[in-house]
Amino acid sequence: MNLGLKDKVVIVTGGAKGIGEAISRLVAEEGAVVVIAGRNQADNDKIVTAINNAGGRASGVVAELGKPGDCKKVIDETLAAHGRIDALVNNAGANDGVGLESGNPEKFMASLQNNLSHYYNLAHYALPHLKAAKGNIVNIGSKVADTGQGNTSGYAASKGAINALTREWAVELLQHSVRVNTVIPAEVWTPLYETWINSLPNPEEKLASIVSKIPLEKRMTTSDEIAAMTVFLLSDRSAHTTGQIIYVDGGYTHLDRSIS
Ligand code: NAP
Repeated sequence: MNLGLKDKVVIVTGGAKGIGEAISRLVAEEGAVVVIAGRNQADNDKIVTAINNAGGRASGVVAELGKPGDCKKVIDETLAAHGRIDALVNNAGANDGVGLESGNPEKFMASLQNNLSHYYNLAHYALPHLKAAKGNIVNIGSKVADTGQGNTSGYAASKGAINALTREWAVELLQHSVRVNTVIPAEVWTPLYETWINSLPNPEEKLASIVSKIPLEKRMTTSDEIAAMTVFLLSDRSAHTTGQIIYVDGGYTHLDRSIS
């Protein structure tokens, strides 16, 4: 299937690691120009070089996305380097364990800043260019918005808001034919996931218990599987899909786990 992404310019936040890295690689494989926005220059450079060496086209922008000025910088540098923006993948985020009891008001606001505000800020600054391109936005959310997890109020609030903004932005942007969708992962092995599981008591036992409850094939979702859905949503092959929240999770969020 030709996804028609050749020469499109796609920004991927957190595109140097984990799910974002898989999206960056697949976007580039489809012939698009990928702009990786992340906080660490060395991480960005590594994946940019790998993509360019493999015959793709990538560039990086160093950005601490919790800072609104850095979000504007991502858009400005993308335009300066590539002249257009066709799509934004809002992916960067971290389950930062700011709980109701363990956190405090300052930590809660900082978590929103790191997990939510940049989704809005980047969409806001990219908007004129997305409108010009009749482009689209794909957000990466989390099952935590539906299920809760405990001890992660800031992250859960951010992911809940991202689902709400998916519908809100899809409506606001109908008149411009700019589509907005969200992909929901549940359990995907990435550097973030590894750090999280290792922060728990008995991580190996906990991991085995989680995996045993994933309905489809009792295995974790791969980053490539999240990337495949994301790239399909970015493409014109999904030209009449907007405002959708799509779960790529082996049924983990919605299916009856008592059925094995
Ligand atoms: P990851 O392995 O930590 O990769 C995320 C990348 O984004 C890292 O390079 C990280 O940099 C960067 N980043 C994060 N916050 C940033 C910020 N504020 N400014 C600049 N760079 C930032 O994470 P992942 O597991 O691939 O997760 C990607 C997305 O999927 C997140 O939105 C997450 O909530 C969602 N998700 C993942 C899972 C899962 O099972 N993995 C489940 C549900 C939802 P550093 O490495 O320097 O922090």
